[in-house]
Amino acid sequence: MIELRGLTKHYGQTAAVQDLSFTVRPGQVTGFLGPNGAGKSTTMRMILGLDKPTAGTALIQGKQYHELDHPLRTVGALLDAKWVHPNRSARSHLQWLAASNGIAKSRVDEVLRLVGLSEVAGKNAGGFSLGMSQRLGLAGALLGDPEVLLFDEPVNGLDPEGILWIRRFMQRLAAEGRTVLVSSHLLSEMAQTAEHLVVIGRGQLIADTTTREFIERA
Ligand code: ADP
Ligand code: ADP
Repeated sequence: MIELRGLTKHYGQTAAVQDLSFTVRPGQVTGFLGPNGAGKSTTMRMILGLDKPTAGTALIQGKQYHELDHPLRTVGALLDAKWVHPNRSARSHLQWLAASNGIAKSRVDEVLRLVGLSEVAGKNAGGFSLGMSQRLGLAGALLGDPEVLLFDEPVNGLDPEGILWIRRFMQRLAAEGRTVLVSSHLLSEMAQTAEHLVVIGRGQLIADTTTREFIERA
């Protein structure tokens, strides 16, 4: 579960996120919908402790990110496809990530299999397509087998096949009982992905409802 209470972020005069309060429940995909610049990334970064709130708190499984005993085993995130080291193989990148987070090495081949990258695990990840880079990012997010997963615009730039694959994968994670929050600026995409929607505009909450109800009201 993710709980936001009055989460606020100001950059100078800009209020990127204003008094956001909502709860993301396990067992379903929750879409985080809003136009570009609405504050979705800033919110996700604060949940992950990458950005300090001006006010309010974000809790993951009841704790702030920096209070988690095992961050990578509690929450996984796919924020940016370009995080991969250009001169490392997919496997060695994940082995490094596992080692630096106290996760068993055996888990690396498991997550490579989960995301369908076993065949190319020895190849330089710098040469991966966007779709493959996203899968590698996903593998990293899954390393610790976390209950909570955050995806920031994960299908941006992917071809239809890649979009479908990521969508199904997120839905499967939710069906396993995990908490899944995925951001997008497209209602059409969220309509096919998420059961629940949290909608923001200019950093403020606009709606927190089932996707069906949001579409019927729109
Ligand atoms: P979204 O992810 O919904 O596109 P962002 O969270 O990236 O929105 O941005 C929300 C607002 O905060 C925008 O007005 C953006 O320009 C501003 N913003 C984001 N990051 C910074 C930053 N590091 N410094 C200044 N302004 C920022
Ligand atoms: P501890 O507090 O001792 O880390 P855990 O139950 O979290 O207790 O972990 C016990 C062992 O299992 C550790 O050696 C850890 O590396 C391993 N482990 C925990 N979670 C995972 C995981 N998701 N994948 C692989 N190994 C794991």
